[in-house]
Amino acid sequence: MRPSTPAAPGPEVSTDPDRAVAILRAGGLVAIPTETVYGLAADAQNSRSVRRVFEAKGRPADHPLIVHVAGLDELDPWVESVPDRARVLAARWWPGPLTLLLRRSERVLDDVTGGRDTVAVRSPDHPLTIEVLRRFGGGVVAPSANRFGRVSPTSASDVVAELGPALHLVLDGGPCSVGVESTIVDLTHDVPAVLRRGGVTPEELADVLGVEVAVSGSDAAIIAPGMVASHYAPDAAITVLDPAAPDVEVVETVTELLVTTPGVGVLAPRRVDGLPVGAVELDPGGGPDDFARVLYSRLREADARGLDKLVVVPPPAEGIGAAVHDRLRRAAHRD
Ligand code: AMP
Ligand code: MG
Repeated sequence: MRPSTPAAPGPEVSTDPDRAVAILRAGGLVAIPTETVYGLAADAQNSRSVRRVFEAKGRPADHPLIVHVAGLDELDPWVESVPDRARVLAARWWPGPLTLLLRRSERVLDDVTGGRDTVAVRSPDHPLTIEVLRRFGGGVVAPSANRFGRVSPTSASDVVAELGPALHLVLDGGPCSVGVESTIVDLTHDVPAVLRRGGVTPEELADVLGVEVAVSGSDAAIIAPGMVASHYAPDAAITVLDPAAPDVEVVETVTELLVTTPGVGVLAPRRVDGLPVGAVELDPGGGPDDFARVLYSRLREADARGLDKLVVVPPPAEGIGAAVHDRLRRAAHRD
């Protein structure tokens, strides 16, 4: 019998916040759980560590990073001033899936903002990560823990598969509860503007602020620096149907694709009647919240099962459904 090859050493996987703090202090990279997706965290005040994040992700330097802090009390050092609107929104949604774009303070590194005079800050809602941020005392940059342009990870094992050797530690906090990235709202102009859709809707923001909220080029290919047309892309080519597409239309689309491709998957919020033999049904769970929560892991599953094409029937484009539509549009886009 031939001796088996030892497995490549993976990153340490732990549930101990103190391990994460020690590694962050030493300038290392730690994957952290959040309610949205797993983040690739590094000390936001250590420019070498921040550059390592860009290298590990293969992310272009002009795609700015979000600074993550323990709560509203920790916002002040990062921004020129805390406007009332920021206080109101943070009081309502922090910790939670809302990122605030504000004028930056002197201490924010150019590496973090790509030299901009603004900084994006949020407080993530996950007990382990809040504990890390409290004990660490500072802020961490934490872009999604995936290679640039690929599907964001929503579990510790997805992180290991995605970035394994580049990481010093994966803090395992279980599966993410929201599943898509935070809403980003720009508070640096008279009219607040949503730059990226997420768990908090523009309507909710407008309600709480009592002012009109713009959605920056909701259909534009690029609505914020770093928000490129093609993103969150699995290997499988994606066809997005209308949320109201009847079963016959799904069946027709799948049947047509099966003529030229053997591996065709379907992600629809219900069992589709009459699918041809060979079509692989993936399960998006019950309602729109479930759909968002499991979307990225189903895209990964499509790749793991060797599917070439995936036909998706999304939930209606309301609430979190609008964020799902945004991610699917980018996942389906091919440059
Ligand atoms: P990610 O870290 O992958 O969730 O992506 C963070 C996104 O936040 C970036 O791609 C930008 O779209 C946005 N962002 C972060 N900082 C800024 C900034 N200073 N100005 C404008 N957009 C920003
Ligand atoms: Mg990302």
